[in-house]
Amino acid sequence: MKFNSYKNLVNASKEAHKKWRMIPAPQRGEIIREFGNELRNNKTELAKVITEEARKIVSEAEGEVQEAIDMCDFATGLSRQLYGLTMPSERPDHRLQELWQPLGVVGCITAFNFPIAVFAWNFCLASVCGNSIIWKPSPHTTKCADAIKRIWDKVADEHKELVIILNGGNQEAVALCEDPNIPLISATGSTKMGKELAPLVSARLGRTLLELGGNNAAIICSTADLNLTVKGVTFSAAGTTGQRCTSLRRAFVHEEIYDEFMDKLHAYYATLKIGDPSDPSSQLGPLISKNSFDDMQNTLNALKNKDVKIYGGHRLELGDLEEFYVMPAIVEVSKIEDEMLEETFAPILYVKKFSDLKDAIHMQNNVKQGLSSSIFTNDLKESELFLSSEGSDCGIANVNIGTSGAEIGGAFGGEKDTGGGRESGSDSWKAYMRRVTATVNYGSELPLAQGVEFDEN
Ligand code: NAD
Repeated sequence: MKFNSYKNLVNASKEAHKKWRMIPAPQRGEIIREFGNELRNNKTELAKVITEEARKIVSEAEGEVQEAIDMCDFATGLSRQLYGLTMPSERPDHRLQELWQPLGVVGCITAFNFPIAVFAWNFCLASVCGNSIIWKPSPHTTKCADAIKRIWDKVADEHKELVIILNGGNQEAVALCEDPNIPLISATGSTKMGKELAPLVSARLGRTLLELGGNNAAIICSTADLNLTVKGVTFSAAGTTGQRCTSLRRAFVHEEIYDEFMDKLHAYYATLKIGDPSDPSSQLGPLISKNSFDDMQNTLNALKNKDVKIYGGHRLELGDLEEFYVMPAIVEVSKIEDEMLEETFAPILYVKKFSDLKDAIHMQNNVKQGLSSSIFTNDLKESELFLSSEGSDCGIANVNIGTSGAEIGGAFGGEKDTGGGRESGSDSWKAYMRRVTATVNYGSELPLAQGVEFDEN
């Protein structure tokens, strides 16, 4: 560690914030633009580091760097749009207005599976808003963090310490959460992690922005275009080896098209190219660790004595490739099994028949998590019901698209055990600022609000 103590590290971040906040936001945006340009120049190299550490295939790793570049572009524009409302004052010669000010130091804890993009969601917004960031990356992906830090240092001039990396595991994350110098903790990872860390932050009345686990579902209606649906379902369920927070875990399929859909799905799964993720022809790489493989096998083993049909799920021996490559699993169930209610961070897709859309929506929502959801249909009434207040209870609701692969322009995040945070586009920037309501009296009288009279003769 460059800093000889945690205290010095936090002090350096506080000082970096103080210097940075004095720069007008559009000029901060210019520096983020340069950061984005350097990411562009280094896209291929950065993607290689993602593939090496997070084991994503080349195209997805490049997509992840692109997401960080997109965030820089978005934040550069945003730096001129940190709007506060002006409200009409009820008092004469008064102005009533909202001002947005930076919070200070943002603590950012990230997961292994989006080692660069999630940092970019947080940093690009936090920085144009005037904050500094202390980033605790996943222990699996420290080289990704180092590569990003090198690029930041190249463009940052005297603001290098706007980004400080705190490598480590649970202990370092806990230190950030307990630290009253850090007004906002943005934490991405499992629900278990969020439930352990959030009380530490709330005990000191700090703010949290939580992006936790999902248990995402798709509803496939009788009018769905099945070729499009099968592609969307496969990319979301098997793609990234089931290791996205938005990966598709459960599919509810209308009984009228169930058999045809399943035939097409099995046929599509049979074409998947599983292998070394650095080989551009691979569609799926390995699981991140033996632990992930064990989790997947434990879940499948627990299902074996139940009334289910399991396809795939086994380890693939691929020559001298030693990691945990698996055939993505499809599990057909006739009733909701306990295993379906939890997120297993591996490619297991549960499939169940339905006859009534309202039942399917109920099954979709009837889990603890609330991140992403999809409906595949060509019936407007069905898609509108899905998007209505009686429909999906998730933070993301897609029509004729799988559950994964969001664009940066929308706010990203989910409800319930997913943590409630929103990052990336739309007005997510507000989470990184404090709101000041300012009332200015430019007259020579002192009228009180609500007509209150005081000191009147
Ligand atoms: P993880 O929870 O194991 O780790 C995430 C981060 O939290 C790491 O930096 C880790 O060091 C830290 N951490 C974990 N447990 C901790 C504890 N008890 N105390 C302190 N720090 C702790 O998650 P992972 O395996 O890296 O990633 C997969 C999980 O992340 C999945 O549940 C996935 O759904 C979720 N995820 C969510 C989003 C989202 O935006 N909602 C995005 C990516 C990943």
